[in-house]
Amino acid sequence: MTIRTGLGYDLHRLVAGRKLIIGGVHIPFELGEDGHSDGDVLLHAITDALLGASALGDIGEFFPPGDPQWKDADSAQLLGAAWQKVSGAGWKIQNIDCVIALQKPKFLPWRSAVRESVAAILGIPTDAVFVKAKTGEGLGAVGTSEAVEVWASCLITRE
Ligand code: MG
Repeated sequence: MTIRTGLGYDLHRLVAGRKLIIGGVHIPFELGEDGHSDGDVLLHAITDALLGASALGDIGEFFPPGDPQWKDADSAQLLGAAWQKVSGAGWKIQNIDCVIALQKPKFLPWRSAVRESVAAILGIPTDAVFVKAKTGEGLGAVGTSEAVEVWASCLITRE
């Protein structure tokens, strides 16, 4: 069996007039992710982790930010398309673990819904997906709610 790990990172500006969408879940808040697509920072990082682990490319290559096709795109569809390529190459996901850096709002009440949403997009068990949240301790772009960041790791295997 071949075992691979993957790492993905993403950052989006938080701005007024946009929805805060994390892992396909709309979290009510006064700010949301700016971006060409829906800006789902968690799904973007997971997409890159899976593409990186399988050495198939990266999210910018598959879904160029300037391409009108992906304007306001549902990132669940982007992740689904990337996962089709990765799974089509014979890979299975063992687990995905993530850290989200977000000053506000509190993430913990949303964690179960987010884990279930990500698992459903990928067709894997909910216990194969975890997300931990950190604030920016009031420092830097995260601490002032100017940005949200995510690091995602994955482990994939192939027989
Ligand atoms: Mg992004």
